[in-house]
Amino acid sequence: MEVLKNYINGTWQESREKQTKDVVNPANQEILAKVPFGGNTSLDVEAAVSAASSALKEWRDVPVMKRVQPLYKLKQLIEENIEEISSLITLECGKSYAESVAEMQRGIENIETACATPTLMQSEFSENIATGIDEFMIRQPVGVCACISPFNFPGMIPFWFMPYALACGNSFVLKPSEKVPLTMMKVFELIDRLDLPKGLINLVHGGKESVDALLDHSEVKAISFVGSTKVARYIYQRGTANGKRVQAQGGAKNPVIVMPDADIEMTTKIIADSVYGCAGQRCLAASNIVTVGDNNGQIRDSLVEAAKNKTTGFGLEEGVEMGPVITPESKTRVEQLINKGIDEGANLLLDGRNANISGFEKGNFIKPTILEKVPLDGEVIKTEIFGPVMSLLPMNTIDEAIDFVNSNSYGNMACLFTTSGLNARTFRNRANAGNIGINIGVAAPMAQFPFSGWNDSFFGDLHGQGRHAIEFFTQTKVVIERWPKEWTRKF
Ligand code: NAD
Repeated sequence: MEVLKNYINGTWQESREKQTKDVVNPANQEILAKVPFGGNTSLDVEAAVSAASSALKEWRDVPVMKRVQPLYKLKQLIEENIEEISSLITLECGKSYAESVAEMQRGIENIETACATPTLMQSEFSENIATGIDEFMIRQPVGVCACISPFNFPGMIPFWFMPYALACGNSFVLKPSEKVPLTMMKVFELIDRLDLPKGLINLVHGGKESVDALLDHSEVKAISFVGSTKVARYIYQRGTANGKRVQAQGGAKNPVIVMPDADIEMTTKIIADSVYGCAGQRCLAASNIVTVGDNNGQIRDSLVEAAKNKTTGFGLEEGVEMGPVITPESKTRVEQLINKGIDEGANLLLDGRNANISGFEKGNFIKPTILEKVPLDGEVIKTEIFGPVMSLLPMNTIDEAIDFVNSNSYGNMACLFTTSGLNARTFRNRANAGNIGINIGVAAPMAQFPFSGWNDSFFGDLHGQGRHAIEFFTQTKVVIERWPKEWTRKF
């Protein structure tokens, strides 16, 4: 079985660590590869950072128009290989093939947006801000930047950061999730064809040890993290204590309000796609669905029907809409949370436990599940389930519903379904979350906008994507120049 190599200094290198972890297809437990995992991965990080540090000296002086040229090529190479990359995402991560393609498209959009860096990096100039004095700001690279990514979007999330970091004149080290390293292995095969300076972009494997080595290395100046809240908080605290700039995107628990005036058919489809897409393993998955004034149960019945009709299975098979969750431990955890909800007094409207998918009996499958009338202080309501589970919460007014939304310790996303502009306006003003959807189920900002988590969903100030990324990956320098008129001109 192949042990995955690191990509360091423009070459594929064996890890200094001999221990490995299996990379497993969650649909059938087939072992796909082995990934280096253990203490000596910190030595790989040392080599990668050293290479990135050397590459920086040349790259920061390459004009920005030239720095974006490889990104155009990378976009083209990814588009030419999108089927293979998307199949790899499905194999190691479990989501449906259509979801994998959509994910890669989101990654490509970030490359395209980063191609605008020559304009986005332009800065400010004030002539004669005081007598004989001009003042201006320039943006310079930060240095070696590192990204630590999660399992659920192996193809997209590194692109929230990497293209911007490079275009801004930095070098880069990526540490993908050990659960899904194959997608970026393929992408780095393409990066290898770009003819970039050696060491400019590096890939190192591993888990906590390689992450800690990045957090503690004095040459790493910026850390971009996406993953669970517990780890995001840790990354932020340790990284900033070591003097780095850190953006750490964490977990979520996303509430959605459905008003009685909502378009039932559209709302049902969008909410079911949000809750069950990627088997609920999205940081923007809707989870707590508040139905306001649904006295005759119309929206409830419609959601149950839509959930029942979702096709669960192996993501590379035709017609499959929902794949497995990532590991057997995740499946057990999600099923335990469903049990907990029942213990806490919920009605189980749809039971997805003990799912049996013919031909994939060993897969980590859970079918769409719906709980109703879970107590508002129940564990299921507060915990990020990260599985295909919807909790229905009937309420009477929009004020009650917004108070519930704002009791959330996370703040990644909140959505409202309505045909009333006034309801929408009230909600977007008052809801305590950084990404708001109005008649939208997955309020994922496009690449031009920051991915704006709040509260326990984000630690830092500048988010990923767009202008925030340009600001994160540059440091500002302000120049004040005096040229007094009184000085006699010689020519
Ligand atoms: P995770 O926190 O377990 O792992 C993320 C990364 O951190 C991986 O690369 C992993 O190797 C590393 N890591 C894990 N434990 C560590 C430790 N103790 N010390 C140092 N590094 C460690 O997250 P995951 O399970 O891969 O991803 C799912 C989570 O990510 C969910 O909570 C989801 O909501 C969140 N997520 C958030 C966003 C967002 O934009 N806010 C996007 C995607 C996923």
